[in-house]
Amino acid sequence: MLLKDKVAIVTGAASARGLGRATAKLFAEQGAKVVIADLDEQASIEAANALPGEGHLGVAINVADEAQVQAAKEKILAKYGRIDVLVNNAGITQPLKVMDIKGGNYDAVLDVSLRGTLLMSQAVIPTMRAQKSGSIVCISSVSAQRGGGIFGGPHYSAAKAGVLGLAKAMARELGIDGIRVNCITPGLIQTDITQGKLSDEQKANIIAGIPLNRLGDAVDIARAALFLASDLASYSTGITLDVNGGMHIH
Ligand code: NAD
Repeated sequence: MLLKDKVAIVTGAASARGLGRATAKLFAEQGAKVVIADLDEQASIEAANALPGEGHLGVAINVADEAQVQAAKEKILAKYGRIDVLVNNAGITQPLKVMDIKGGNYDAVLDVSLRGTLLMSQAVIPTMRAQKSGSIVCISSVSAQRGGGIFGGPHYSAAKAGVLGLAKAMARELGIDGIRVNCITPGLIQTDITQGKLSDEQKANIIAGIPLNRLGDAVDIARAALFLASDLASYSTGITLDVNGGMHIH
């Protein structure tokens, strides 16, 4: 088991078909105690209870709200006394053109992905520093690397590119404390984030540009997250792991 008795927080993991839920499930199968941290408390608790194994936790959290993040951290530490892995997965997207992005759109998208990644990381770093070990995995997007063109608007690309920069800078600063920080850049994965707004024709066009000839499944990302979270990636920090079926070979 790759995460035996490790305590792993996965944000945005209540969504049934989402990347976070698949990651939480795989981590639990690998022996981790998993904290599902999502907006709705009941949904988080139910998702945690549905995971394989015992001793998981569901907490309500808006990752963009510092007070909520700190309160959740206290609850997690009170239960487990340690935090080994954080997966910054919570995110939202909006299919807007550049001239249609209003202040509220910018705030909403940037706050969840970028501010949320910063606040959650700040919440766990003191504990990881004291342990002299930890792994932070940040879910960016291929949209950050290729300037969108799939579903999310320019503000989404900017948020996810910001995550890449933030993660690399944290990796540089935190390596001395035994904390690794890495990113995954998923291609188009079949989840509910696009809210059914991608037509079959759009999907077929996207698949035509994917060498592996299919859209991604949530478990494809979960496996990459497991690699980065575990000692399999013991000498990797500041990396960006492309999991996109070859959609963006660069
Ligand atoms: P999803 O919509 O299925 O899940 C996202 C989850 O985040 C939901 O459970 C939602 O409640 C939660 N969330 C939203 N705002 C939150 C907040 N403020 N605080 C806490 N939780 C919050 O989406 P998904 O496709 O599983 O996406 C997961 C991550 O992967 C996102 O960061 C997304 O941008 C990224 N991503 C997805 C794809 C894709 O094709 N699905 C591609 C690249 C990157």
